[in-house]
Amino acid sequence: MQAELLLDARATLGEGPAWDAKTQTLFWVDILGKRIHSFKDSRDDFLQLDEFVGCVALRRDGGLIAALHASFVTLELVAGQQTFLASVSEPASNRFNDGKCDPAGRLLAGTMDMNEKYPSGNLYSLEADKPPRKLLDGIRISNGLAWSPDYKTFYYIDTPTRQVRAFDYDMDTGNISNPRVAVEVPASMGWPDGMTSDLEGRLWIALWGGSRVSRWNPATGRLEAEVAVPALQTSSCVFGGPRRDILYVTSARVGMDTSALEKYPLSGGVFQIQTQTEGMPTFEFAG
Ligand code: ZN
Repeated sequence: MQAELLLDARATLGEGPAWDAKTQTLFWVDILGKRIHSFKDSRDDFLQLDEFVGCVALRRDGGLIAALHASFVTLELVAGQQTFLASVSEPASNRFNDGKCDPAGRLLAGTMDMNEKYPSGNLYSLEADKPPRKLLDGIRISNGLAWSPDYKTFYYIDTPTRQVRAFDYDMDTGNISNPRVAVEVPASMGWPDGMTSDLEGRLWIALWGGSRVSRWNPATGRLEAEVAVPALQTSSCVFGGPRRDILYVTSARVGMDTSALEKYPLSGGVFQIQTQTEGMPTFEFAG
């Protein structure tokens, strides 16, 4: 497997890729650049927002839902029209980071201290027409989320722990329980950031500072494959394409000095990897 450059985006903090199977469009965000991007047929468009955007998801009824600095909004991408849904009560130095929808159509999104000092982050679950519900607290950098193919297990990354935790997931209630460590990422590989899963139940994890994505078996905790990506801060990944076997990978330029940027000039780009596996679909918000 090899990573190819799809888009030389030079994003400050490219993140949160989501695949729209209906229109074969890749959505992704530049959190610090305050942009929601859509990539289709070799063309990238973006919507410029006036605040940070942690993640974006598709809505079943059309349009998008996004977690901004500390609120959830729906968005019409073409008109750029925003509708406020709900806010969360967080310290001013916190903002939303990674998030995605569960198979039942809830949006799970977490927050982080932008100074990366305090474990003041939380993980929320937003169900249509209900207030956001807190699932976890004490989080440092809320990141990767994924579900097993039978939807019974939820995987979650708080990046500084270098661990993927697994929880039992109740699809009827959205409750999580029985936390345990599924994967421990060695320091030599970088920091576990965004994550997705495939139909064989394996986890694909982007490694921040590790210039690669990696495939793990959460049942054994073992690393099964690594793919080098020519960007240092590899941030997240999602499966897409007509057969949902292409892994799309985002990356970032933030925090890199001149010599690191000279070594990794494509940092901030979006990459694609042709895999031998079919990925889990991107789920949509039920509202
Ligand atoms: Zn991330």
